[in-house]
Amino acid sequence: MADLQGRTGLIVGIANKRSIAWAIAQAASAAGARLAVTYQGERLEENVRELSAGLNNPLILPCDVTDDAQIANVFAEIEREFGGLDFVVHGAAFAPREELSAPFVQTTRNGFKLSLDVSAYSLIALARGALPLMERRGGGSIVTLTYLGSQRVFDNYNVMGVAKAALEACVRYLAADLGPKAIRVNAISAGPIKTLAASGISGFSSILQIYRDRAPLRRTVETAEVASAALFLISDASRAVTAEILTVDGGYHATGM
Ligand code: NAD
Repeated sequence: MADLQGRTGLIVGIANKRSIAWAIAQAASAAGARLAVTYQGERLEENVRELSAGLNNPLILPCDVTDDAQIANVFAEIEREFGGLDFVVHGAAFAPREELSAPFVQTTRNGFKLSLDVSAYSLIALARGALPLMERRGGGSIVTLTYLGSQRVFDNYNVMGVAKAALEACVRYLAADLGPKAIRVNAISAGPIKTLAASGISGFSSILQIYRDRAPLRRTVETAEVASAALFLISDASRAVTAEILTVDGGYHATGM
């Protein structure tokens, strides 16, 4: 198991116990890291506070990634409390429900803007905030979460597929920009998992069944399995890996039928 003793990390994207970001927080904490965890809006504050009770002295902060002031506050608090930062996990994504049910051609300008702002631009904003804190540590690791809908068409994934394609391009450009400072930027492309975000995609159960039927491993994946891969990307075990999209989907992405 990765050793993250003495490391500090920021985890964005915890909504509840089923969140992929929560599985990563648990794994990173078990490996010895001290964490700052964020919640989006008062609605989710209690969930995140309750879950985080089991973490090692966490810093719990509000962060709506569409709000630059909240992002600035997160990094100011991390600087004050931790003095530097070793890793960031970005698990924020959103698309308005209508955009995930209407025909793709009906995608609205506002729905497009909001989806790409929350789901892709926010990685750039978080990387910029983390940069000076990671420089103090001599480098760092940034990990985001994506889905195969960036490259292939899945029913109802719609504008989120476009946002994930943008997110994956952001991974490559950030990796190129920040690599000389020893900051690595990677994504995990996870197979489908029933989470709050997934509940917005109509027909999600049939996507899960297709993975069970056709993925080489003949099953879907669990959040803990995505977290294991995230720990690899956070830790020194992956010290030469950057600009990578690591797929954790039981091999489904390789199938042709
Ligand atoms: P989730 O609903 O638990 O997490 C999504 C998070 O995004 C929530 O915590 C929500 O609060 C946060 N978020 C939305 N808008 C935000 C905003 N404006 N500011 C800050 N946070 C905001 O669902 P999840 O499935 O764990 O999603 C985590 C990531 O994994 C997402 O990027 C998702 O696209 C990706 N992913 C999920 C699956 C899946 O099948 N569940 C598969 C591949 C990738």
